[in-house]
Amino acid sequence: MSDTKGLHTFIPEPKRLEMRSGNLPLENCRCVAFDGGCEPSLCDEVRRIAEFAHSAIAEETGLSMAVESSIPGPSQTAIVLELKPLEIGAGHTDESYVLDISPDGVTLSASAPRGLFYALQTFRQALRQSNGRRAVQCLRIEDWPEVRIRGMQLDLKYQMPTFDYLLKIVDLLSQYKMNYVLIEYENKFPFESHPLLPSPVALSKQEINQLIGYCAERYIEVMPMLHCVNWLEYILTHEEYAHLREGPEAIHQACPTNPGTMELFRELYAEIVAAHDDCTYFHIGADELHDIGVCPECKAKVEREGRARLYFDYVLAVCDHVRQSGKRPVMWADMVLNEPEYADKIPRDIVMMYWDYWTDAPKVQQVILGSSAATHKGPITPQTISSVPREIYERFAEYWDPGDGSFPNELAGFPYLGYYQDKGFEVLCAPSIQCSGDNYSCTRYWFHLENISEFCKKAAKEGGLGVVNTNWVIHRVPWEVTLPGVICSAEFSWSGPQIELGDFERKFAGDYWGLGAPTPIDIMRTIGTCTTELPFTRVCRGSPFDYPPLTEKLEAFEQSENRDEVLASLPGLREKALAAAQEAAALEKEVTRNRLSIQFLRLGAEVNAHKASQALCFHQCGQLLNAPSASGEEKAECAGWLEELLEQLGSLRAETERLLSLVTSAIEVEEEMQRRWVQEEALMKDYLAKLTAEAH
Ligand SMILES: [Zn+2]
Repeated sequence: MSDTKGLHTFIPEPKRLEMRSGNLPLENCRCVAFDGGCEPSLCDEVRRIAEFAHSAIAEETGLSMAVESSIPGPSQTAIVLELKPLEIGAGHTDESYVLDISPDGVTLSASAPRGLFYALQTFRQALRQSNGRRAVQCLRIEDWPEVRIRGMQLDLKYQMPTFDYLLKIVDLLSQYKMNYVLIEYENKFPFESHPLLPSPVALSKQEINQLIGYCAERYIEVMPMLHCVNWLEYILTHEEYAHLREGPEAIHQACPTNPGTMELFRELYAEIVAAHDDCTYFHIGADELHDIGVCPECKAKVEREGRARLYFDYVLAVCDHVRQSGKRPVMWADMVLNEPEYADKIPRDIVMMYWDYWTDAPKVQQVILGSSAATHKGPITPQTISSVPREIYERFAEYWDPGDGSFPNELAGFPYLGYYQDKGFEVLCAPSIQCSGDNYSCTRYWFHLENISEFCKKAAKEGGLGVVNTNWVIHRVPWEVTLPGVICSAEFSWSGPQIELGDFERKFAGDYWGLGAPTPIDIMRTIGTCTTELPFTRVCRGSPFDYPPLTEKLEAFEQSENRDEVLASLPGLREKALAAAQEAAALEKEVTRNRLSIQFLRLGAEVNAHKASQALCFHQCGQLLNAPSASGEEKAECAGWLEELLEQLGSLRAETERLLSLVTSAIEVEEEMQRRWVQEEALMKDYLAKLTAEAH
């Protein structure tokens, strides 16, 4: 079989693809068939996949095909699902499959039902790409994944999806062969032992059960998560739990030496694990403890036994507890980098989840140098490296060195995967599609896609246990806009280094939107760039992430050194955003699927254009109100501008509410509207009142 490169239509890219001449007219196929004589439990599973095939065919082509539990004779054309040992794939044989489309019919074969399910997903894409012609191109595919765990983080803190939309996301992940979701419930879990905690839009136990079942039918396993000490705002904001805070104001971090903290973890854990009795892994968080050792007890312990001891005594006890219930603990890996002797001591069954959201190439100019003492973001020079403490240098230099003579001017990308693996840990790699620095218009696609694709390739090359793409909804980008980045992770964690990012973008535009060119992704990049360059665009929630009030941000901006430079760039940014909005509006008519994502993009671009005008206008208002010589005419003109911006704000707000309401629970739409629009509307009205009063 010869590889046919350059065709690139399937996501993820199959390992071996042979195009063949001719088409199979689907009308010729009599049925979807499988061998009903196999072992009963296996047989039920294959029947279920055959029924999925029936629905997929109906959905993509409108044809309704019978499902039959006996394989028809060779003279009959059919779509056949066949379980048999396959001699392909590198280790993950239960996920390998062969898809064969010939004029005589379609055969999906695999050694396990999961492989058959993936064969079906590829067949489904072939149907979709036949553009309703009901005739599929003949071909043969042999395929298997590079990486075992291919997942996405479902962060349910904010922008709680409606239940239907949650299922839709799961369905989408399964269509691109993802097999894990990491669910961060926080206040969306219906804790009965702590009734203060659940949000009014928390999932019910029944819904969680349904969600897990829905995932399982699609070969997606749920990895639940419960932060064990940090990021506990949903708990510690309540006065009833204030005694557990590490400091009086520390609503995000609990005290690890207070026995109540462990007790609370155990009670919450018991409920979550009871709802996920089949899960293999349990994520305990344990990242970024910046405030460790603040309270008197913790401070004394740090002085007596060291910071590492305080952290690991608690975290390892949490891991023991997780292990006792038969689950494998997973934790964020960053704290381990800081404490070398612990990296050697802690049990190797703990899975390290290594997050790196900023590396965007195989080699990078910036990297977090491991220890909080040596955290460095910015251009790396030989001087930076020489300023690193000697013991840190000695520990990490071999991982930073790309090995091509460019060190220390350049560093290897994602250096710590090798470090953790050499210490004997299995590692889940965590790139990101939404993280600190993003805002609600759109994530910064200009670097997230590079980060995702390169990290997945690295995981494939170096044998990482898996990739789980993070998506921190705290930054309020609509789910719909982040999904292309999630599918990018599905692509490269399956296919590894086989194709380039540009190939993925073209394929994605075709399969996801029915477009010939990846214009929406270009628009995403433009909006992301505007977002980065515009002042006062970030909206976030909850300490320690909350940004200051708009009036404070405005004041800081007026005092900033680069104020004039930013002001001069605003008209250009507005033009760029307006052009992107127009392009998105045209695409709304052109796309054949997933139109909602384009509508969110149009809105994001329009919001950016409005933000650029608004920043210019706020500056002018400030100038006029501070200038005794400003004329009434100038003030009236500026007031007119404000009125126009207020009117635009009204329609942007209405459109935001309309789109978010399609996919987000009502209570969180309301919260979102408060976050996004209230402060700027108030400020505009305030300026308008002042200017009008002075103009008369
Ligand atoms: Zn403490």
